Amino acid sequence: MIENLLDELNEKQKLAVTTINNPLRIIAGAGSGKTKVITSKIAYLILEKQVAPWKILAVTFTNKAANEMKERVKKLIPDMNYAPQISTFHAWCSRVLREENENIDLPKNFLIIDQYDQILIIKSIIKEFFSENINLRKNMERKIIYRIANWKNDLLEPYEAMDECYSTTERAIAEIYGKYQEHLKEMKSIDFNDLQILTYKLFNNHPVILQKWKDRYDYVMVDEFQDTNDLQFDLIKFITQNKNNLTVVGDPDQTIYSWRGAKVDIILNFNKTFPNGVSITLDQNYRSTQNILDLSNDFINNNKNREAKEIFTKNGNGELPVLKECTSKQNEAEFVAQKIKQLIKDEGYNFQDFYILYRMNAWSQEFEKELYNNRIPFQLIGGMRFRDRKVIKDANAFLRAISTGDTASIERVLKSIPKIGDVTIEKVKSLAESMGISLNDLILKEDVALLENISKHLPIIKSTLIKGIEIFKQENSIRASLQYMLVEIGYIKKLKDTNKNEDIDYIDALYDQLENFDKIYDPKDYENTDKIVSYLQEESLLNSEIDELEVNKVTLLTVHSAKGLENKVVFIVGLNQDIFPGRLSSNSQKEIEEERRALYVALTRAKERLFITYVKGDFSFISQSELLPSKFVRELDEDMYTFEGKFQNKLNPFIKSKNYNSSNLNDSVASKFSKGDIIEHMIFGDGVVIEENQGKMKVAFSSDFGIMPISASDAAITKK
Ligand code: ATP
Ligand code: MG
Repeated sequence: MIENLLDELNEKQKLAVTTINNPLRIIAGAGSGKTKVITSKIAYLILEKQVAPWKILAVTFTNKAANEMKERVKKLIPDMNYAPQISTFHAWCSRVLREENENIDLPKNFLIIDQYDQILIIKSIIKEFFSENINLRKNMERKIIYRIANWKNDLLEPYEAMDECYSTTERAIAEIYGKYQEHLKEMKSIDFNDLQILTYKLFNNHPVILQKWKDRYDYVMVDEFQDTNDLQFDLIKFITQNKNNLTVVGDPDQTIYSWRGAKVDIILNFNKTFPNGVSITLDQNYRSTQNILDLSNDFINNNKNREAKEIFTKNGNGELPVLKECTSKQNEAEFVAQKIKQLIKDEGYNFQDFYILYRMNAWSQEFEKELYNNRIPFQLIGGMRFRDRKVIKDANAFLRAISTGDTASIERVLKSIPKIGDVTIEKVKSLAESMGISLNDLILKEDVALLENISKHLPIIKSTLIKGIEIFKQENSIRASLQYMLVEIGYIKKLKDTNKNEDIDYIDALYDQLENFDKIYDPKDYENTDKIVSYLQEESLLNSEIDELEVNKVTLLTVHSAKGLENKVVFIVGLNQDIFPGRLSSNSQKEIEEERRALYVALTRAKERLFITYVKGDFSFISQSELLPSKFVRELDEDMYTFEGKFQNKLNPFIKSKNYNSSNLNDSVASKFSKGDIIEHMIFGDGVVIEENQGKMKVAFSSDFGIMPISASDAAITKK
């Protein structure tokens, strides 16, 4: 057994596995077997050195990576009675705290609250104690939570935080921090930040407990060590210093969590903390083909702030990676689905051999739809299906409210109005009941004063829905109608005020989807069913019944959650400007380098086949502009991939130009507005034309609508 175990390793890996009397650091590139060293070392310690499994601790960053590691160890020692402890940092801290609960004055079964609960708590504190403070009332919850987290990370108690504050608002926030802590205590809860901080304090203040945990582990290993922050490193030091029992592995080129405090210096300066530390580098890649490796290494070379590493592979050249330009988001999803089918049919791959990686969760939507339509089973890791998201359900409820008008959807719309709570909704429902009419009729047909009597915030629903219907008829656009309703009722503002940026991305992705449906909808294809109802029906069909237990599935996940994982075929999709790197991270060199590392992580997940796609030319609400290739596309060496041009657009250029020439109307329309014109739109308000092309315009509105595609023939616009 043990022979086999070491036989599988190269000389350097063997050395790393058998080095057990010194602190050990491995710095090596992706796919060089760092995680394999950790899992092999666990097996080696148990089988060869008779270390009890429970005396071994291995930590990493994501649950998926921890599970992966557990699986690999299980394969090496199938008949193990006790499992070594393999977990994420947070899960390990939670375990320590539950065991030592008495010393932190919490019950064993304390709760860990999430950000949603945090917001509710902060809101209630402001309402109770600071209702006079105008500054605090302006949806500051997230900023306050962030501030509190910073104080906690600096290990400052509320009274110490107070000493740092000078302005009245700051002092009030420090006071809120104190009350927040009291509240948590009453609820016998802690927040996510507390997990690591309380563990730190526990070890720092109780030498006896620290000694106990130090004795608990004979060996400690940390995977993905490049993403460790100071606090996590302190925890590691607590339980390993002077014991020579630590192994850390990492790749500085894969640091993707600096925004959460990860410090690559920690791995680089390992020997300052552990002077007798041994360093080993691994230089053989076992994961990828030569072609994939070449492209990845060449690309990461664009980062100035890095040390080059040598890495080679004995794997064959394999196919060249493919760079694919797509004409729209749907087209990109179609390409991927077709490619998956083709590779399964022609080359014997299985569904489980595919990863689809994207930078932002909202990009998954087209793929979910397309895979479903092609009956390709899939799973999302670390994210929820697009249509299961609360914001998407909320938004679709507006469309149901103005089409089918069912009670459940009207109720949901009511709930989404700021300042309307359950009590008010109950009152509205019982009013409808007592009048013997439907909720829909009460709201749309009866005198609005009835609603006003219940709450002054209610009448907006009637005007919004009626106008929503009107806009739909006028513009023949579901997107425009929904966009109007969400803005008008205050839903978008609520998301913006509470910094729900990801939810806004989801809404933008939904606009993209609706805009597309608006374009392709032809009543003939839908048995003359109403357009909105057709959309909703198509949508609800996506409520897939795909067997959850089916293991043979395509996996959709973000680049960040793919860290440490690998698969035979990898698609990296949406390599677009303002998407990857994202709109907000395009500013500083430091942020760009971090994004480049994220793409390097993505590229290096692929074992055999790599496809990179981007969309060109289609407008997207997510990027608030026409989609263009990311600057990273230009940084990929042309000699290292095959470029596949556009899918032939459904409207071929000949037909397009013919249409265009035959329409004088279009010509005259096109000349009506030009870039820079200030216009007024009846619904969306004032805006500036930022793009004009043959009657198709992009207008930036000063209202919450932001940038929108508008046709120059839209009767609702006038030039100012
Ligand atoms: P990353 O930086 O992406 O986390 P890594 O350095 O942790 O990568 P591993 O995941 O451990 O790399 O290994 C990559 C692949 O190479 C795995 O499939 C692993 O089983 C295989 N591998 C590693 N070392 C060897 C070896 N000596 N012989 C055969 N296969 C190996
Ligand atoms: Mg790894």
